[in-house]
Amino acid sequence: MRRLALCALLAAGACARPSTVPLPIMPGVPTVSERAERVYRESFVIDTHNDMPTKMLDDAYDASIRHPAGFGPGEGNTDVPRLVQSGMTAEFLSAWVDAPYARRRGESFERAIRYVTAIHALVDAHPDQLRFATTAADVRAAKRDGKVAILIGVEGGHAIENSLDGLRELYARGARYMTLTWNNGNAWAGSSVGVDGSRKGGLTPFGRDVVREMNRLGMLVDLSHVSDSTFFDALAVTTAPVLVSHSSARAINDVPRNLSDAQLRAVAKNGGVVNVNFYSRFVDPVYRARAEAVDRELAADRRAARTGPDSAAARVRLAARRDSLMARIPPTPFSVLVDHFDHIAKVAGVDHVGIGSDFDGVTALPNGMEDVTALPRIAQALLDRGYSEEDVKKMLGGNMLRLMSEVLDRTAPLP
Ligand SMILES: [Zn+2]
Repeated sequence: MRRLALCALLAAGACARPSTVPLPIMPGVPTVSERAERVYRESFVIDTHNDMPTKMLDDAYDASIRHPAGFGPGEGNTDVPRLVQSGMTAEFLSAWVDAPYARRRGESFERAIRYVTAIHALVDAHPDQLRFATTAADVRAAKRDGKVAILIGVEGGHAIENSLDGLRELYARGARYMTLTWNNGNAWAGSSVGVDGSRKGGLTPFGRDVVREMNRLGMLVDLSHVSDSTFFDALAVTTAPVLVSHSSARAINDVPRNLSDAQLRAVAKNGGVVNVNFYSRFVDPVYRARAEAVDRELAADRRAARTGPDSAAARVRLAARRDSLMARIPPTPFSVLVDHFDHIAKVAGVDHVGIGSDFDGVTALPNGMEDVTALPRIAQALLDRGYSEEDVKKMLGGNMLRLMSEVLDRTAPLP
């Protein structure tokens, strides 16, 4: 515990030795043994989705300093000191383009570029702790040199504004995956949610060209967020194994953002990897039911915030009420999160599971999974369920490293 306090006081990099800080003991949460600690440290631990860059751009979040774990302004699940402490090998930071940017020409692409620039600037500001990476070889080298590898994933296919040149530009600037949609569908791919009345259908002929171009470039085709029909259309056209960067199992919690068992089997057949999303609303059916009840309770307040005479004040009241109601929902047990790893390993196979936390992009996380430093608990929980050390290493990131070496390290020259 003394070490924890010391680390909290010191600047980034002072705790560069990974996983030397013991995690607090919590009821219902696995206590990390020396064996789990060793397995974790020997692993390539790779998280395929983290939204900290949105906090950096929108909330003036200073990633250089340590923050308390949480969801409010000034709190977070990630920062450079905790990335170092976590001992993780590689983090994909998300260049997320929100749906409204798609309304005006030029804005989605520009927004994606702003993220890419901010992520590069973050890495450049921390040369002793972070290393920018675009390949599996880079990730291996970063681990060898004691740095956390940072990669870029673009979230929302509308970022390319229907242009393969736009896609190539993002690739050239270092992006190594793109989700074909976010919650909004676009002109060529349908989303699982279809916000703002956007498309939920399959891939158009141009959408197939996007997948082919990603294959040619050596960029991971990410099927998180897409509709079921776009999912299967993309699998039919891709010549490379796919990524599912942050989705969990629908058999445990039936939401469109999670994958059905048929989808899990299809990813396994393709050779891809499904990375488990930690968001309580995606992993936990009990939490989801309670959160949906809160949504229903707030329907009238939401209308007032949208159209009422004093909508600005109503929005502030709505947010406060929503926060207090949501805070009353009991947190998701850690074991429910582990159930998703277990289920995907059983249905798709242990070679097709990984970590896709969605840290800093969600409003609730399971008990014991408050921030990036808690990741060693996953190693312990999987060992506790009887997985071999080799299998645990695969799920922590070995599978992703294999996928990355198959897709990212085999690139075609740009035209
Ligand atoms: Zn997402």
